Formats: sequence, C-alpha cells, structure tokens
Amino acid sequence: MLLWGWSRVDGRAHALDSNAEHPALVSVARCGHRVLRQTTVFDVPQGPRCPSCARRADR
Ligand SMILES: [Zn+2]
Repeated sequence: MLLWGWSRVDGRAHALDSNAEHPALVSVARCGHRVLRQTTVFDVPQGPRCPSCARRADR
C-alpha cells in the first residue's frame, strides 16, 4: 500500500511503501528521502508532492 508522509525537511509529501522494510526511526521514501517514522501519513498527499516520488507513484 502506498502512503504519503510529509517531510518537514523539504516541506513535500513523499511516497512511503508500507510493505517495505524500514530502519527503526525513519521510513525510506521511494526517492530515497528519509521521513521520520512518527510523521503522520495520508492516503492522499497533503500539499506539494516530492517530484521524484510523484513520478514513481503515477506510473
Ligand atoms: Zn520523495
């Protein structure tokens, strides 16, 4: 399942694969960006999407 987590680092929503394995404290987005695990995730991206995550998600 694909979820979107907002990163306070760059202010964009990144695509997070909920089935993927992630390090303890972060989730690794499809673009490789790391989003804090405690970040709230959404089914629909909130705000601007990370360009590289959006490109992968739309495929
Ligand atoms: Zn991204």
